[in-house]
Amino acid sequence: MNLSMNVKPVPTLDDEVNEIRLATAEIVNRDILPNEGRLWGWITDSANAPNETAKQAKELRLEVQNNVKKANLWAPHLPREFGGMGLSFMQHAYMNEVLSYSPGAASLFGVVAPNSGNQKILVKYGTPEQHEKWLKPLTDGTMQSGFSMTEPHNPGSDPRSLTTKAVLDGDEWVINGHKWFTSNGHAADFYIVMCRTSDPNDPGGDNEKMTQIIVPKDTPGVNVVRGVPVWGRASSHCEIKYENVRVPKENQLGRTGTGHAAAQDRLGAGRVYHCMNSIGSMWRAFDLMIHRLTTREVHGGEKLEDKQFMQGFIAESYIDIQSARLMTIHCAEQMESGADPRTDISAIKIFVPEAYHRVVDRAIQVWGAAGVSGDLPLAGMYQGARTLRLADGPDEVHKILIAKNILRRYHAGESWDFGN
Ligand SMILES: Cc1cc2nc3c(=O)[nH]c(=O)nc-3n(C[C@H](O)[C@H](O)[C@H](O)COP(=O)(O)OP(=O)(O)OC[C@H]3O[C@@H](n4cnc5c(N)ncnc54)[C@H](O)[C@@H]3O)c2cc1C
Repeated sequence: MNLSMNVKPVPTLDDEVNEIRLATAEIVNRDILPNEGRLWGWITDSANAPNETAKQAKELRLEVQNNVKKANLWAPHLPREFGGMGLSFMQHAYMNEVLSYSPGAASLFGVVAPNSGNQKILVKYGTPEQHEKWLKPLTDGTMQSGFSMTEPHNPGSDPRSLTTKAVLDGDEWVINGHKWFTSNGHAADFYIVMCRTSDPNDPGGDNEKMTQIIVPKDTPGVNVVRGVPVWGRASSHCEIKYENVRVPKENQLGRTGTGHAAAQDRLGAGRVYHCMNSIGSMWRAFDLMIHRLTTREVHGGEKLEDKQFMQGFIAESYIDIQSARLMTIHCAEQMESGADPRTDISAIKIFVPEAYHRVVDRAIQVWGAAGVSGDLPLAGMYQGARTLRLADGPDEVHKILIAKNILRRYHAGESWDFGN
């Protein structure tokens, strides 16, 4: 089975975005989809993956990455001066839904979380020296990074509760704290650590008491306790203790107290990109589901597509994908136009992962046992969709935000304008 993604020019988009989408789809269809088993071979059978298989997979990934670079599709999230495509926000969003058709393909286009989020923060808050020392190697691929914010003993959904502390001693920050779920923690050469630099009762706003600080992994006192197992498997989402870790003052990102703002910057646009990624994955799950419905014969030779239960799956999944996509594009347009996008960001953060979850769930059901096997990308997508509902701010917190924003407007004597 070698289904390809059907991407045609979108009449309402300009030529440049359409060309980017078509060129991206060409690489996905030609270089990635037919090779998925070999590109990510060890994922299906990691315990038994021989070194040779892993080596060949790495070589193949490099080959695809070179093709991506030749097609000028490398690092869509970065400005040109930092080695990226220099895309606008909307262009990047529209490209994401295409490159996410194949799970893991984003990394072949130079976008790998959490490096990509860290790169964006370094671009915006970093000094020229920090760009040279940390951003450039991250973009060249000679360094890896992690973002260390969530703590086991405090609610990650309320970043103001974080207690990892950084105190200035001369011209050094001394950091003490306990983090977990620092993704890419094993491979990272440095972490961007969210630290409390003012006490809760100190003067100043609640959102001005954190600072993000770059901490090289080999600094004494950085203790990577373990990769926390996730979905029953070993992972690189690490638990880390920072014990009297000393780094130079110039490792802080931006002014002291801008950590919260930087985290918001990372998450705002990031949520639109994540949602467009989810839509690309739903698109794939949908195509896989239809393929199975149109080829599998059941009870007495009828195809699955002839069964009304199954036709319901098609219609419901179509509705889920279209609503998720249009809602995300509306939110991205709000952001692009300078309108206040907070209500829509929270709305897509809730709706899209839920829709993604439903679409993949139906595709798994239609594929039967194969649906949960490692032979198809559906099981991984299912876990990813479920995880998205709690990562990046859990759904309940976003529901509270939506209600507050809406009620504020009504209490001010206005009502909601759904046309804007
Ligand atoms: C695979 C994965 C990768 C991750 N990668 C990173 C990373 O790289 N770096 C990093 O710093 N973090 C990372 N995280 C952590 C993630 O951002 C947090 O798990 C998330 O922010 C939620 O925080 P928490 O786990 O402490 O849950 P809590 O804040 O304790 O919330 C638990 C639950 O309580 C409920 N809840 C919370 N607040 C409210 C409220 N006000 N009203 C009603 N209900 C509420 C929600 O249902 C929520 O799911 C990752 C998590 C996962 C699963």
